[in-house]
Amino acid sequence: MTGVASLLRQVEAERIDVVHLQFTDLMGSVKTVAIPAGRLPDVLERGVGFDGSSIEGFARAEESDMRLVPDLATACLWPSGPGARALRLICDVVLPDGLPFAGDPRRILARAADRAATSGVPPMAISAELEFFLLPQGERAEDAHLGDPARYFDAPSNDLAARSLMSMAEELIGAGVPVTQIHHEAAPHQYEIDLAARSPMAAADALVTAKVVIRREAARFGFTASFMPKPFTGHPGSGLHLTFAPACATDAPPWASFAAGILAHASGLTAIANPTVNSYKRLGGSEAPGFVAWSDRHPAPYLRAAGDAWEWRAPDTSANPYLAIACALAAGADGTEQALPLPTRLDDRPERWSEEQRFLRRVDALPETLRDALDALEQDDCLQAALGDHAMRHFLEAKRLEWKAYATTVHVWEWEQYLTL
Ligand code: GLN
Ligand code: MG
Ligand code: MG
Ligand code: MG
Repeated sequence: MTGVASLLRQVEAERIDVVHLQFTDLMGSVKTVAIPAGRLPDVLERGVGFDGSSIEGFARAEESDMRLVPDLATACLWPSGPGARALRLICDVVLPDGLPFAGDPRRILARAADRAATSGVPPMAISAELEFFLLPQGERAEDAHLGDPARYFDAPSNDLAARSLMSMAEELIGAGVPVTQIHHEAAPHQYEIDLAARSPMAAADALVTAKVVIRREAARFGFTASFMPKPFTGHPGSGLHLTFAPACATDAPPWASFAAGILAHASGLTAIANPTVNSYKRLGGSEAPGFVAWSDRHPAPYLRAAGDAWEWRAPDTSANPYLAIACALAAGADGTEQALPLPTRLDDRPERWSEEQRFLRRVDALPETLRDALDALEQDDCLQAALGDHAMRHFLEAKRLEWKAYATTVHVWEWEQYLTL
């Protein structure tokens, strides 16, 4: 209750007039509803009703009455139109009877974090590296990647882009999301913003916040921020590296087994961490992993040992961060419970090996298409349990439709290859 009282005092003191209530659908899209600040006391007591059947992956029409219950720990000041002072709260989703909704991504992450703790996974903090493109608005997407000579760690060649990045950092810090680093990435117009380590839930909340802020500040300066995993043929794609840092030493057996669990479930995890058709055009090239292995030397392993921490390099920013982190924790918890041994470190480049060499050395390739990854997810009981029946069913259904739409569309490449065949 003191939480509520002090939040209401803050609303009063900061002269807030609008409150944005935010949550995330199963696919990771941010949803938001604005209320006048005067309604907040009532909303904190009763929540806000909404039609769950209109939200991707949520509910059927007959179970559509859902409510948003704000999580007070997520309160932050939020830019909102000229003159308005606004607060943002991330919400949990509950059913009419007050029980948590099984398909709420935050709920799925909270449950996975609890299970990891009871499985003996050490408490950890997760930091994130968000890569994205800033494409000048008004240019055709296929041309927009030209005309930026800057590459990895270069000073931005575009002054407006530089200013928009600084403004993103300022807004993120203002929203309680500390930024540890910003740099130009390897491709033209590609940048990276790194977020400080925090608890699994706070890390996922920070990631959805960052995507909203990056898009908004990009648009203010005339750019479209693209989180598409591989927007341009022949240029590196954009990843979402997540680094898991333990509160104890890495040579503790649970931590090695945690990584072994992630490697063991890599195929199924791919569907969640790389959930678009386009994700598979990034994997296996330009420092994005293509094989299931760990290393501290090879530049693009699936998992990279970084001192005490594990950097999971596979995910991309099309993933729902709540589900990606939940499934990684579930895989790591499974490895911990089974005391799985960490496979041998791999410093070599399996992409140069023959299939036979890979077979003999037991280095698996990641699924090569969304369809293969969905099949792997469907076979993975551990990830199925982490997601729960509801989310698993809706996720597979939506993603299989996405695959089908792609597979039945004729693409430019096919015209180029076959039109005059
Ligand atoms: N862009 C690469 C990826 O897709 C990562 C490059 C890097 O950060 N060194 O994962
Ligand atoms: Mg980085
Ligand atoms: Mg990077
Ligand atoms: Mg990295």
